[in-house]
Amino acid sequence: MNPTPAQRLADLRQAISRAAADNGRDATAITLVAVSKRQSAEAVRALAMAGQRDFGENYLQEALDKQQRLRDLDLDWHFIGPIQSNKTREIAAHFDWVHSVDRLKVAERLSDQRPATRGPMSICVQVNVSGEASKSGCDRDALPALCRAIEGLPHLRLRGLMAIPAPTRDGDDPRAPFALLREAFTQLVASGHDLDALSMGMSDDYPAAIAEGASHIRVGTALFGPRSPPL
Ligand SMILES: *Cc1c(COP(=O)(O)O)cnc(C)c1O
Repeated sequence: MNPTPAQRLADLRQAISRAAADNGRDATAITLVAVSKRQSAEAVRALAMAGQRDFGENYLQEALDKQQRLRDLDLDWHFIGPIQSNKTREIAAHFDWVHSVDRLKVAERLSDQRPATRGPMSICVQVNVSGEASKSGCDRDALPALCRAIEGLPHLRLRGLMAIPAPTRDGDDPRAPFALLREAFTQLVASGHDLDALSMGMSDDYPAAIAEGASHIRVGTALFGPRSPPL
């Protein structure tokens, strides 16, 4: 028999607690973002009923439709996908967090377009921790200047960093890319930034991310099962 969403959530929460305990960490310091892209509003509702509050989406139109159908629930929505500049207005209006800011132009637009009624939007800068193997994310060299600039924007609150490491090959240490992100985070904090978010780890690698200090893990498949292909 397939596990129910509530069972999957309970199993995942237990695995998170184990990974936290193995590393001397407090599991309550780890926020689970349930990645609901290409999953139905009903599947999100079932998890919400089981106590899940944070949901992550990649595709704007799909996310807006789902939010509309779930507007009776009090959920926190995280935008985690690539951002085209012409989508920033809707993202600024309908999300609590954006994890995937990788350039100043997008940050400036999100700040300018953030509705006054919503308070500052929480932002993570997406960092390239995989060098040539990845095309997305800000280069680590450019990170300090981007973070300084974002901190000057009035309607954003810079919370931390996010990464999606390129798939590791056999023999690679799965923790290595997460350690790079943690080091970048530590350097920013040492240079005076007040940060509290390290968004890293997905279904296949969240234990390694927790070992390296993840504050937010973004898990889809392990919670919802396989998703339908992108539209
Ligand atoms: C799809 C996605 C996830 C979740 O991936 P799973 O392997 O299904 O857990 C996490 N983060 C981002 C940015 C994604 O696009």
